[in-house]
Amino acid sequence: MQTEVEYRKLRGNHYNSLNPFCFKIVCGECGDHYGKKVWHSTDPKYRKNVWHCNSKYLRETGCSTPFITDEDIKILFIRAVRKLSVDDGTVLETCMLAKETLADASAEEERGKELADKLEMLNLMITNLIKENAAEPMDQAEYNRKYNLLSGQYEEAQFEYNSLCEKILEKRSKADKIDAFIEQIKSMQNMPLVYSDKMFINMVDEVVVTADESLIFKFKNGAEIEELLD
Ligand SMILES: [Zn+2]
Repeated sequence: MQTEVEYRKLRGNHYNSLNPFCFKIVCGECGDHYGKKVWHSTDPKYRKNVWHCNSKYLRETGCSTPFITDEDIKILFIRAVRKLSVDDGTVLETCMLAKETLADASAEEERGKELADKLEMLNLMITNLIKENAAEPMDQAEYNRKYNLLSGQYEEAQFEYNSLCEKILEKRSKADKIDAFIEQIKSMQNMPLVYSDKMFINMVDEVVVTADESLIFKFKNGAEIEELLD
């Protein structure tokens, strides 16, 4: 049987995964995320999600960025997407450019190959040194000096190699995101634009709410489109 805590945890996760706006809306004044608040009304028809700067109340920053509703975000998002997809050439061009500048890992891959070779070579040298010493014991101080030198070089190269691999993975995942974005744009051609969470998640990195009542949509291809709140 599920405990209450487990149930709540499940329910919480479920809600978070359902709401695409969590951690995507940013206050243009203090940089904190916007948080959700449900405005209750006796009439469920009027119950709606309202988003506001988290710091405004928690830390009393006095941010003057406005409240926005789910509806505001959805309507302005569609408007921004319309502008974005007016000229497919430009959109796809910015996608390719973003891929080149943000997601191109060829330099890292090149260096990675060099390092892999170096690691293999050092590994061989260490193995040979150990074999040599086993076959015919050398001066142990000399052996230790050589061994420490080689293993120091090995560790250094290994460290660089590991952080390089991380960078490559990061860039590959960025490239995947841009590809998803391109697919999204292609699938929307000649189709009436209707809001969907999937579309929002595929396309938007973040939305900045400004004090002069506009939303700046930062798209995953690097494009930024500002829309005024009604
Ligand atoms: Zn704020």
